Amino acid sequence: MTAATAADLPASDLPPSDLPPSDLHVAASKVPWRAFFPGVDFKLLRASAETGTFTLLLRTLAGASLPRHRHLGAGEYYMVSGKMLVRGGKEHGGITAVAGDWGYEPLSVIHDSTEFPEASLLLFTNHGPIQFLDDQGNTAAILDWQQVQAMAQGPVVE
Ligand code: ZN
Repeated sequence: MTAATAADLPASDLPPSDLPPSDLHVAASKVPWRAFFPGVDFKLLRASAETGTFTLLLRTLAGASLPRHRHLGAGEYYMVSGKMLVRGGKEHGGITAVAGDWGYEPLSVIHDSTEFPEASLLLFTNHGPIQFLDDQGNTAAILDWQQVQAMAQGPVVE
């Protein structure tokens, strides 16, 4: 007798986590924009219940910013267009990311303010939740894959 493998069992008998992984494809141009923060809209491309990873396309207005936060999972971004100033940008010892740049944000790193001096478009993946902090360092909000998924059901913006 040989042990049954996942391939031997009908898909309906397998728990979701034992299903073979499959390719994902999102026609992102057909996904509507949703409000994220003032001046920042997003499209949810993936939210994983298994790993907590979520991938967003972010669109910002010139002058928009993201509030102070800590990465409870590492993050990665790719700048499609525009400009992002991390920790005040290069002039202030931080990072200035422009079109074509990729960056990695390690677990536990705190970003006091992330600013977009130009209208920007970036792909962003976080491998876990993001903790938003108030001025005293207290938790203001936790953004995890479930929260992002709920926000992706919010009102569509133009
Ligand atoms: Zn950050």
